[in-house]
Amino acid sequence: MKTKRLFLAALLLLMVPACAPAQTTPRTGIRVVAVETFLADIAQNVAGDRLEVDSLMPAGMDPHAFSPAPQDVIKISQSDVLIINGAGLESWLEATLQNAGGQHTVVEAARAIEFRQPSEGNPASDEPGGDPHFWFNPLLVMRYTENIRDGLIAADPAGREVYSQNAEKYIGQLKELDQWIEAEVAQISPARRLLVTDHETFGYFAERYGFTISGVIVPSYNTGAAPSAQQLAGLVEQIRASASPAIFLEAGSSPQLADQLSSQTGVVVITDLYTHSITAADGPAPTYLAMMRYNVSRIVAALK
Ligand SMILES: [Zn+2]
Repeated sequence: MKTKRLFLAALLLLMVPACAPAQTTPRTGIRVVAVETFLADIAQNVAGDRLEVDSLMPAGMDPHAFSPAPQDVIKISQSDVLIINGAGLESWLEATLQNAGGQHTVVEAARAIEFRQPSEGNPASDEPGGDPHFWFNPLLVMRYTENIRDGLIAADPAGREVYSQNAEKYIGQLKELDQWIEAEVAQISPARRLLVTDHETFGYFAERYGFTISGVIVPSYNTGAAPSAQQLAGLVEQIRASASPAIFLEAGSSPQLADQLSSQTGVVVITDLYTHSITAADGPAPTYLAMMRYNVSRIVAALK
C-alpha cells in the first residue's frame, strides 16, 4: 500500500509541468507523527517544507505520564511514519501499536545511542534499561537528527537530497548550541555546577558540561514515583553537604516537595524549566533549540 502511494506520488511528480516554480514542492502524502513535541520540532527541521510533522502529545505533556486516548491511537494508526524517542521513554508504545494496527515505519530517534554509565557525582537509577534523556546533550541530538533523516529517506526516497541538506544544516545549529552552552556554563565556577532535579533528567547534560547531580527528588528515570520519608531526609543531608544553591523543576510540576526541601535547606527553587516538552509558539521555549537555551539561561542565572 505504501509502495502504491509512493508510486502515485512519483507519477504526480512526473505530471508537474517543467515550468512549475521550484518552490512549490509537491506534497508527498506521507503522514509523519512524532510522539513528543521536541521530537516533532527536530523532525520538522529535517523534513523542511516537504513533509508536515505532527506531534502526538500536546505542549506541556509529561511523556512519562502519557497514556494514549482513543484519538491518539487513531492518529498513530493513520500515520505512515511514527517517530519515537525510544530507549524506554514510551512504555505504553508496544501495546498501543498492537491496538492501532495500520502500517507504519517506526523511527527510533535514539537508535544505537549508548546509555550513560553511572559515575561519581552523576548517579544512575538501578531501574532496568537506562536513562532515555539523551536530548539534554545536543551532540546526541545530532544522532537523533541522523536517525530521523534516515527514517524519512526510507519512507520517501525521492526526498533524500532535501532531508540530507536539512539534516546537515540542523546539525550545524546543534553544534552552535553546544558551543553556546559551553560558553554560558563557563560563567559558573566548577564548584557551583550542582544540580538538584525532580527526577533523573540531567544526566547527559551533566556528563557533557561538567555538572554534578547533587540530588534527585525522585531517584528514577521516570516521574510519578514519590520519594519515601527516608529518601527525603537523605536528600536534605545531600543538599546541605554539597551546598547546592538551587533545585530545578519542570514547569507545571508540583512544587510541594521542593518547597518542603527549600524550607529545610534554604535553597532557591526554580520552577519553570521546560525539559520534556517545548512550549506553544508564543511561549519561552517553542523549539528544541530555544528550550535548551532557555533552560541553560535559567540554570546559569541561578548558579553563577
Ligand atoms: Zn524524564
